[in-house]
Amino acid sequence: MTHNLCTCNNCSKVYFDSNPSDESIEYPDEILTDCGGLIGELIQIEDEEDGDIFTGCPECKTDGCLMDNVNGNAGGNAEIIAKILKDKFGIIEN
Ligand SMILES: [Zn+2]
Repeated sequence: MTHNLCTCNNCSKVYFDSNPSDESIEYPDEILTDCGGLIGELIQIEDEEDGDIFTGCPECKTDGCLMDNVNGNAGGNAEIIAKILKDKFGIIEN
């Protein structure tokens, strides 16, 4: 099993990407042993203006800052996870 991840560039948190794009990396299951506790779940959010339901960051209540994969440049959790992926799994992004 593999996992797609995304980063919220606003709060630096990393989430399981429930709607991955063509650019999404398939991360191996093994990353959960080291990073699992640092990865959160996106939530369904209702748009206050038109009532549409969208998937977004539970901290920031928006999907506007989400980007594919783990963006270590975002700092915080994302930086920690990016370092583990690089050091233990050799996964270097971009
Ligand atoms: Zn956020």
